[in-house]
Amino acid sequence: MSKSSGSERKLKQRQCLICRDSEEKSMMLRLVVDDEGRIWPDLFQKAPGRGTYLCMKQACLTGLTDRKLGALRNRFNVQLPQRANLMERTGEVLRRQLVRLVSQFGAVAVLGRDAVMHQMWKSGPLLVMLASDAGDALVQQVEDGIDKRRKAGEKTILLHGFSTSFLAEAFARDKISVAALDTANVSTKLQMFCDWYVRVKELG
Ligand SMILES: [Zn+2]
Repeated sequence: MSKSSGSERKLKQRQCLICRDSEEKSMMLRLVVDDEGRIWPDLFQKAPGRGTYLCMKQACLTGLTDRKLGALRNRFNVQLPQRANLMERTGEVLRRQLVRLVSQFGAVAVLGRDAVMHQMWKSGPLLVMLASDAGDALVQQVEDGIDKRRKAGEKTILLHGFSTSFLAEAFARDKISVAALDTANVSTKLQMFCDWYVRVKELG
């Protein structure tokens, strides 16, 4: 038996504010409330004071309404409405953190259409970041490439929620529409933040 069995693992679980499911807290978004009653995302779960947790599944983000946030009034002095502000803050905090994380891969990332398409023919799991404003032709080309890789039994994670300006900022270039990374370099946390960012962006 490993050390983290049973009760120890349960201690690290938290209940989602919206769906009430219990999850590993490191896989959830912690929210904290400041003195002015504003709710903030606490990405690294280090902010002092009491917090509450969101599982960040699509359904919970869709179900996150001001009425649901009102439930926090039992424990916090929360100002309402602020669902829209909370989503905006969360998107911005995630975007900044992702730029920081992705930029660390600048030296090993493959950038631009030709280099990425070339990389797709190689074996090994790949993370592909395709800008949402990349243009139909490039989107089609990348999707075809991923489909061929899938048929060849190669794993590809496609992230399609960033803009060209996001990728340009992350990789310190003028303009980047597509980039790829060997997933051996990509942490679970980075993948999780990417998924969250794309979901938050889609909901606006
Ligand atoms: Zn939930």
